Amino acid sequence: MTLHQNFIGGRFIPTDAGDRIDVFNPARDSKISEIPDTTAEGVAEAVAAATAAQRAWEKLPPIQRAGHLRQISAKIRDNAEEIARVISEEQGKILPLARVEAAFTADYIDYMAEWARRIEGEILPSDRPGENIFLFRQPVGVVAGILPWNFPFFLIARKMAPALITGNAIVIKPSEETPNNAALFARLVTETDLPEGIFNIVYGRGATTGKALTTNPDVRMVSFTGSVETGSRIMADAAQNICKMNLELGGKAPAIVTADADLDLAARAITQSRVLNTGQVCNAAERVYVDRTVAAAFTEKLVAAMKAVRYGDPLASEDLDMGPIINRAGLDKIDTLVKSAIGGGAEAVLGGKPADLGAGSHYEPTVLVNCRQDMEIIRKETFGPVLPIVEVDGLDEAIERANDTTYGLTSSIYTTNIGAALRAANELRFGETYVNRENFEAMQGFHAGRGKSGIGGADGKHGLLEYTETHVVYIQN
Ligand code: NAD
Repeated sequence: MTLHQNFIGGRFIPTDAGDRIDVFNPARDSKISEIPDTTAEGVAEAVAAATAAQRAWEKLPPIQRAGHLRQISAKIRDNAEEIARVISEEQGKILPLARVEAAFTADYIDYMAEWARRIEGEILPSDRPGENIFLFRQPVGVVAGILPWNFPFFLIARKMAPALITGNAIVIKPSEETPNNAALFARLVTETDLPEGIFNIVYGRGATTGKALTTNPDVRMVSFTGSVETGSRIMADAAQNICKMNLELGGKAPAIVTADADLDLAARAITQSRVLNTGQVCNAAERVYVDRTVAAAFTEKLVAAMKAVRYGDPLASEDLDMGPIINRAGLDKIDTLVKSAIGGGAEAVLGGKPADLGAGSHYEPTVLVNCRQDMEIIRKETFGPVLPIVEVDGLDEAIERANDTTYGLTSSIYTTNIGAALRAANELRFGETYVNRENFEAMQGFHAGRGKSGIGGADGKHGLLEYTETHVVYIQN
C-alpha cells in the first residue's frame, strides 16, 4: 500500500510523526493508499523551503517563470491518461470527465503562463510638480493552497499557476480524500526543472495540517477552496497573522425557467449541470424555480432527462454519466436532506434514495416536486444528483426567491425573452449568471462568490491579480 510522502524543497520526504490516514476508492469502498497527517513541524519545513526559494523566483523575469509552467503543462499532456485514471479511482469521477480535467488543467497552466508579459503596473498622475508615482504589482510571498476533493487535480493548478507566474511560492494541502493525484502532480514536477521549494505538498487533515498552514506566520496568503464552514474557521485562524484571504466556498445555485423558455434546452442543461461530477460541483444548479404555467411540461422533460442518467463504477465502464458520491458522509447528507423534504410535503417523482450497486456510495438521480422555499433542500448545499423544483408565479417571484439565500456563487436562467435575461443580469445577486446554458465557468472569466460563497475570486486577469500586492512608489525629482 503506497504511503505518500510530503513533497518539500523538490524532494519526497518520509515522515514518521503523526497519524496515518486511509484513502478509499468511493465506487468500491476499497482502500487504495495512505497519507501522513502532517504535524506543524512538517508544515513549517515546507513553508521554510518555500520562503527560501521564493526570493530568487521573484527575481526571475516572468517570461522565464512562464517557461517553467509550460514544462509542467507539457508533462501533464504527456501523462493525461494516467492522471485521469488516478483522479477517477480516488474521486469517483467518470473517466471522460477525468480526461477533461487533466486536459483543462494543462490548458489552464498555459493560460496563466500567457500573462507573463502582462503583469503590468501603473504610472499615476501626481499633484506635485516633478514627482512620479509608480504602482508596482509584487508577489505576496508564500501562498498556502488548501483544496477540496471535487476537482482535485485542476484545483492544484488553479492555485499554483497564478501564484507562480506572479512570483510566489506555494505550499499545497490536498484534501485527505484525494491525495493520489497530488502525488502524481509532484512526480511530474520533479521531471521538469522547476527550482526546488517553489511548489510543495503536505498531506493531512484540516484540523492538523491545514490549521498549521493557515496559522504559520510566514504564510502571507491563504487560497482556500472548500465549504463555508471550513472557510469561516480558516478566516478566524488566519486572523492572528492578518494574512491575505482568497475563499472559494460553497453554493446553492438557482436555475430559473421562465414561461417562454425552451423547455427541452432547460431540462437538458439543468440535468447536465446537476449530473456533472455526480452533482458535486460548487456552481451546479441546486434548486429550480419554474413558472407555474409550464411546470408540468418542464418536470416531465426533466424527469425523462434525469431518468436516462447512467451511473456506476467509473473504472468498470466508460458508458456512464456519473459515478459515486465521494464518501458515506456525503451520501448520508444528501439522503437526510431528501428525506426531510419528503417529510415536509415534497414528492420524489424520480429517485429519492441511495442506490444499491453492491459496493460504493451511489445515489439515485432524483427529482423532487412540491418543494417550498423554507425547506432545507432549498437552503442547504446538497452536493449530489438531486433537483428540487419550486413553482413560481412570474419572473419577479423567481428572482426574489433565487436571491433569498446566504450563498451567492452562480445562478442561471432559461428564457427566450431578452428583457428577462437582462433583468436577471441586473438583479440576481451572484458572482456568475448563465443564460440558456449549463453552469460552467471559463478560465478567462472571474469565478467569485458573493455572500457566504466567498471572498475574492479565481481565473482571468482579476484572479491573477489576487496573488499580487500593490507597491506604490513616489519619486520626487
Ligand atoms: P471542506 O471544507 O470539508 O475541506 C476542504 C479542505 O479544507 C480540505 O483539504 C480539508 O482538509 C481542509 N480543512 C478542513 N478543516 C480545516 C481547518 N480547520 N483549517 C485548514 N484546513 C481545513 O470541503 P470539501 O468537502 O473538501 O469540498 C466540498 C466543498 O467545496 C463544497 O462546499 C463546495 O461547494 C466547495 N467548492 C467550492 C468551489 C468554488 O470554486 N467556490 C470549488 C469546488 C468546491
